[in-house]
Amino acid sequence: MSSIKPSAHLAEVRYEIRGALTRRARDMEAAGRPIIKLNIGNPGRYGFTTPAHLRQAIATHLGESEAYGHEQGLEEAREAIVAQQLARGAQGVDAEHVFVGNGVSELIDISLRALLQPGDEVLLPSPDYPLWSAATILNDGSPRYYRCLAENGHLPDPDEIDALVGPRTRALVLINPNNPTGAVYPKALLERIVEVARRHNLLLLCDEIYDEILYDGTPFQPLAAVAGDHPCVSFGGLSKVHRACGYRVGWMSLTGTKARIAEYRDALQLLAALRLCANVTAQWAVRPALLDTPTIGELTTPGGRLHEARRIVLDHVAASPYLDVVAPGGAIYAFPWVRADAIAHFDDTAFALRLLDEEEVLVVPGTSFNLPASRHLRLTLLPEPAQLAEVFTRMDRVLARMAAE
Ligand code: PLP
Repeated sequence: MSSIKPSAHLAEVRYEIRGALTRRARDMEAAGRPIIKLNIGNPGRYGFTTPAHLRQAIATHLGESEAYGHEQGLEEAREAIVAQQLARGAQGVDAEHVFVGNGVSELIDISLRALLQPGDEVLLPSPDYPLWSAATILNDGSPRYYRCLAENGHLPDPDEIDALVGPRTRALVLINPNNPTGAVYPKALLERIVEVARRHNLLLLCDEIYDEILYDGTPFQPLAAVAGDHPCVSFGGLSKVHRACGYRVGWMSLTGTKARIAEYRDALQLLAALRLCANVTAQWAVRPALLDTPTIGELTTPGGRLHEARRIVLDHVAASPYLDVVAPGGAIYAFPWVRADAIAHFDDTAFALRLLDEEEVLVVPGTSFNLPASRHLRLTLLPEPAQLAEVFTRMDRVLARMAAE
C-alpha cells in the first residue's frame, strides 16, 4: 500500500521555533541532560504569571461559557478592544469590525485566507515571525521579503518596499514591536510605509502582539492611527503583554473607509463562522486585561525582570569579543549576531546545534525567520537574569572553540 502523502504546500513551510532542534533538546532532557531553553516566547514557562484579575474574571464567568459564542467574539471583549483602539487614535472602529480568535495565530491564517487568490503576493519582513510566511504559502500566496537589516537598526526601508510591489501584490505585513529583532517602528517611518500602501492599494496587516512591551521609554505608534481611512488590520492578544499564552486569545480589528473594507469584512465573518467561535471561557479575560490598570510596566521598567534581562543581554554582548546586537526597543527577544571580523565563516544552524550538544543551551538560528545567510541567533529575554548570564558564558565558550579551529 502506498503511504499517506501530506499536502505539497508543506514542503515550503517551516516553524523551527518548535522544530528539529527543539525535538533534539527534548530527547536530551529525556536522557537526563538539563537544557537552558531560550527558544519559545512563552512567559508561563519561565515563572511569569497571568495577572490575578484576569484569572478571576474567567472563574467568575465559567458558568456562562458553555454555549458556542458569537463567531466574532464576546460582545464584552469586542467592546473593550474597540475602546482600546479608539483611545489609541484608530478611526471609526466598532464591534462589527473586531474578531476575537484562538490566539493571533488563528487570525493570521484567517486574515490571509479571506484575502488571497492563487499567485497573489504578500510583502513580509525578513526576518519575520515565520507563521506569517507559512500562512501566506498555505493560502496559495507568495511571500516577497523586504529587509530589516541590523545596520539599519532592523527597520524597513520604505523605498525598498515600494520597489518590491508588483501587479499581484495585495498586502503588506508589519510586525511592530518586532519578533525576532525587538525593533519598534517610529511614527515617521510608519507614515512613509502607509504612503506606499496607499499608492499601491495594499491592505496593511499589522501584528502588534507586543504593543505594550517597551523599554527605555521607546514610544509605540499603533499603525491604525497612522493609516486613518486606509484599510488596515491590527492584531493584538493576551499571550505576551498579559502573560496568558495558554488562554489562546487574540484579536484583530479592521479599520478604513467602510465601503472599501465591507466585502473583506464579510469574508472574515464567514471564515470566523465556519470555525464557530473562539474559546469562550478565556475571552472573559479580555475586558479586564484592556480596561483595568496594565501590569506589564512592572516588568519592563528598571528593576523589572524583563528590563534586567535585557540589560544583562546588552552588557554581555558588549563584553563579548564575538557578538554584536541592536538593543531591542520592545518585545521579549534579542537578536544578536556573530561578527564577521571575529569568525569569518559562520553557519547559524550549525552553531545552534553545537551550542545545544556541547553546552546544553537552545536558541533559534536567524535563518528560521526567513533571513537568508544569517549570522543571527534569537534568544528570549524570559529566563531568570542569572540564567541568561550563564547562557552567554556558554555561548562564548563555543565561539572561542570555533574561532580557534
Ligand atoms: N505574532 C507574533 C509576532 C508572535 O511572536 C506570536 C507568538 O510568538 C504570535 C503572533 C502568536 O500569538 P498567539 O499566542 O496569540 O497565537
